[in-house]
Amino acid sequence: MTNRIDPIRRKSLYAMILFLLASGFWASASFAQTSAPPKAQRISRDPAEPLTGTPHPKIPPRPLGAIPRASVDEKSMRALIHELVGCGTRLTLSSWDDPKRGAGCGRDKIVARFDEIAKDSGGKLQVVVDKFESTSARTGDKPIPLENVYAILPGSDEKLAKTIFLVSGHFDSRPSNVMDPEADAPGADDDGSGVAVSVECARLLSKAGANGRGTYRATILFAAVSGEEQGLLGSTHLVDWVKQQGYTVGGMLDDDIVGADTAPGGPHRVRLFSGNGEIEDADSPSRELARAVEEIDGRAAIRLIFRVDRYGRGGDHYPFYKAGLPGVRFTEPLEDYNHQHQTPRTENGIEYGDFEKYLNFTFMGDVARDNAEALRQLALAPVAPTGAKLAGAVTPDAKVSWSAEEDPERVGFEILWRETSEPRWQVYDFATAAGETVLKGVSTDNHFFAVRSVGKNGARSIAVIAEAERRAPPVPSNAPKQ
Ligand SMILES: [Zn+2]
Repeated sequence: MTNRIDPIRRKSLYAMILFLLASGFWASASFAQTSAPPKAQRISRDPAEPLTGTPHPKIPPRPLGAIPRASVDEKSMRALIHELVGCGTRLTLSSWDDPKRGAGCGRDKIVARFDEIAKDSGGKLQVVVDKFESTSARTGDKPIPLENVYAILPGSDEKLAKTIFLVSGHFDSRPSNVMDPEADAPGADDDGSGVAVSVECARLLSKAGANGRGTYRATILFAAVSGEEQGLLGSTHLVDWVKQQGYTVGGMLDDDIVGADTAPGGPHRVRLFSGNGEIEDADSPSRELARAVEEIDGRAAIRLIFRVDRYGRGGDHYPFYKAGLPGVRFTEPLEDYNHQHQTPRTENGIEYGDFEKYLNFTFMGDVARDNAEALRQLALAPVAPTGAKLAGAVTPDAKVSWSAEEDPERVGFEILWRETSEPRWQVYDFATAAGETVLKGVSTDNHFFAVRSVGKNGARSIAVIAEAERRAPPVPSNAPKQ
């Protein structure tokens, strides 16, 4: 046997190649340049799921009565930060008794502001000073006294009132040396800004008035905590406190360094950090809370960052996240490290210190509005479904099941899906009752699935991932033990 081509056929083959080169090849090459196959044709190489087309459920509109940006009181946010800075330092290791200087001075300013707001709430808002002790390397490993300040707006719905949504800023500040209670630590941005946002949310949401504001199904807690710079001591305590009070955490919004937007090209979006969690699909409750906030406030307002916090740094949402609770962090677009954690001074012509003059109240007011609107919609929503499961592996149909308590204000559930590489959910279908929904012709393998509750008022709970039963793959019996 030989592969050689006989001379005559070889000749005609050369002729054919020459002909192709001279005519068709170039012609088709230029054809390819001018009219590529349409895009739709090129991206349709994956099988459609389901084969007959996806359902088109009616999407109920979001709740009416969104908080207008113009209702944010930037002036009183500015005034509160000015008073906090006036305390000189608010380091947790400083005085809790001196009304003029130290952590206690900061606490007094916040309590006074909350009291004013409570008066305007028609008595609905309750102000609490929570005193406790805590220890860390940054307390010299000795127990120290701490205080958190809370304003609580009780939920109006008997069942949902035990679900709590929180917004928090930390009122402690720090100089360069985190153990030095004497040095000045103005902490205007870190985290006077977050405290001002939390307090302004209390005002926006508790206002009694003809528009019916101040009535939410779930409870909302507005916090100003201490001990953040000594090791997240105040928020770690807050996780326990809400549990002791019998609350279930619906979501926690941490606002820390949300006061400046100094980079050119602004206004920029506020960053919203959320941790992945520990399941393969990166759908921790924290991530679902972040997605819900973005959906409520819009992509133009929120920049989702899919990591638990800034690289190598931490914040008050972390103890919530670590407890498996939905906790996220708002932070300004691009931090200036000369203006944080620095004892005020000028060195080589560079000014260090966290001063009020670097703050941008237009930006901070936007953050306050976006926090308040997220809290409003979440606290109006029916309770989130529980026990969502994905089944149907090795079958043509995915099966999503979940349970939920009776709720006369709920209209049903949205079944959500997304490509595994997509960051955001889409509504696949609507179900009026809990139980199991079969997604005909949809593979369990190519998408992630979740469920959320929808109220008659259009408010949605955060999504609950439909978890697949996780089984370890079979391994050889002589495989080394892990
Ligand atoms: Zn901070």
